[in-house]
Amino acid sequence: MASVIVVGAGIWGSSLALRLAESGRRVTLVEQHRPGHVRQSSSGETRLLRCAHGADEWYSRLAWQARDEWRRLGERAGEPLYLESGLLWFAGTPGGWEQASAGTLKNLGIPCEVLDPADGARFFPDYRGDDLSFLLWEPHAGVIRARRATEVTARLAEDAGVRLVTGRATPVTGEEGAYLPAVEVDGETLTADQVVWACGAWLPALFDVPITVTKQDTLHFAVPPAWSVPETPAWVDHGAAAYGHGDVDGVGMKATSDAEGGPYEPEHGSRTVDPSSVDLARGYLRRRFPSLAAAPLVFTQVCQYALTPDAEWVVAEASPGVWLLGGDSGHGFKHAPAFAAYVAGVLDGAYPPEPRFGLHPRTPARGLRTSGEAR
Ligand SMILES: Cc1cc2nc3c(=O)[nH]c(=O)nc-3n(C[C@H](O)[C@H](O)[C@H](O)COP(=O)(O)OP(=O)(O)OC[C@H]3O[C@@H](n4cnc5c(N)ncnc54)[C@H](O)[C@@H]3O)c2cc1C
Repeated sequence: MASVIVVGAGIWGSSLALRLAESGRRVTLVEQHRPGHVRQSSSGETRLLRCAHGADEWYSRLAWQARDEWRRLGERAGEPLYLESGLLWFAGTPGGWEQASAGTLKNLGIPCEVLDPADGARFFPDYRGDDLSFLLWEPHAGVIRARRATEVTARLAEDAGVRLVTGRATPVTGEEGAYLPAVEVDGETLTADQVVWACGAWLPALFDVPITVTKQDTLHFAVPPAWSVPETPAWVDHGAAAYGHGDVDGVGMKATSDAEGGPYEPEHGSRTVDPSSVDLARGYLRRRFPSLAAAPLVFTQVCQYALTPDAEWVVAEASPGVWLLGGDSGHGFKHAPAFAAYVAGVLDGAYPPEPRFGLHPRTPARGLRTSGEAR
């Protein structure tokens, strides 16, 4: 039986471990803390599932496949992990990113609808859209209970036979300095046919990868019950780098900025949000949902983006049998179960990874994730 060591029990590593174990591999999952620990990117309370990715078909298709997987995982777990609230894109200009997204979704047969800005009033208890050009409605988008989904995925992986090892793994190199399909954990060397390093924001400290890490503050505000998911949709204002969704599980309405924060170290960096992030979110609420301008801040989380210059992911073989997965660039949670199936195929040799996922120098590009100017 082929064996694989996966390092990192965030949603990428856990989903892959589950997938590989269920397709007959002997899998060891190494995690330095515990699945769902607060420093990992996957332990945000919530993550959005949307299929719009501008003109890119690959990520859109994968997100659409992942929606089915999330629903199935929720059924297996006996609890809903995905809340299908729909998602409204607030488009500030005609003919831009949202227009390209609408075209891509239509080509792929993924339901969406272009609406007048005034139609936003149908979706929210209070809304102002007079600065907008149009709305793009994705009825099958929604919100994933991310931290819970990560814990559940890791548990299902263990149920499927994955051996979970707690400890910090370091790479093992051979005589000529090439990485070997092995890891060292607490002085013990573990070997396998393949090793996959799915270490999120910790990856650049271990390998030479085109990834930078930034601090991201997320904010949740107390809102009246009418602002709950799934009754209230998720929303993204691409141009203003703002996004959020209604209340989930009493944690409050998320309203936060997608603008890249300062450089960050995920293990020891401060987990306190900056006052300027709160001012930014309030400013946005005041303009878009005026009745929430003074809503109390009830919950905050500091997370980190692992960004590549072009927001394309990294799926690359560093040396034979040693694979690097990372650079999710703030848009990889939703895809995880479908992405795991894709990566399993790459590990099998069924197809090579997309050339764009390689370790080559990347040309800076915006557009795969929300990346407007913070306003
Ligand atoms: C603020 C914010 C908002 C986001 N919003 C969205 C969204 O709306 N939709 C979406 O799809 N995506 C979103 N994302 C992106 C999403 O969260 C990530 O794509 C996803 O969580 C990445 O998971 P991961 O498993 O790669 O990394 P992580 O969850 O960070 O997991 C990496 C794991 O590796 C472990 N590890 C690292 N090094 C070692 C080692 N040497 N030995 C053992 N263990 C190790 C770490 O402890 C950690 O548990 C957002 C991200 C942030 C920060």
